[in-house]
Amino acid sequence: MRSSTSVPVSYQLVIEVPSTLHLPVGRLGEHEFPAGTYVYTGSARRGFEARLARHARAEKRLRWHIDYLLAAPGVWITRIVRSSLEECRLNQAVKGIVTVPGFGASDCTAGCGAHLRFVGASGKSAGRDRTHA
Ligand SMILES: [Zn+2]
Repeated sequence: MRSSTSVPVSYQLVIEVPSTLHLPVGRLGEHEFPAGTYVYTGSARRGFEARLARHARAEKRLRWHIDYLLAAPGVWITRIVRSSLEECRLNQAVKGIVTVPGFGASDCTAGCGAHLRFVGASGKSAGRDRTHA
């Protein structure tokens, strides 16, 4: 099931959390999300663009961990990055810390810890762009 071209198979969502949140995240239970910027890494081998469109949509049934975060008030996606790298490699290249162990990593076998990483407190974030897919 391998594609010979470098079509995107994984993606990253850069997510801004404007104020500290306490959210239930499915079976992971309630967790704190300090205000700041997060990077979520996911993959979709089929229906790639549909997946991205789903993330950007507000109305949906909460299914994946990321849905719980994106459904929270004030949380928005600032940037979407498409990649042909394998999901876990892409994730491990992010310099950030795991704040919610297991987040988005239910089927991760590469020891990522989580596929959501906190990359920095928000604040003066210069050059923030409001692109909302
Ligand atoms: Zn992983």
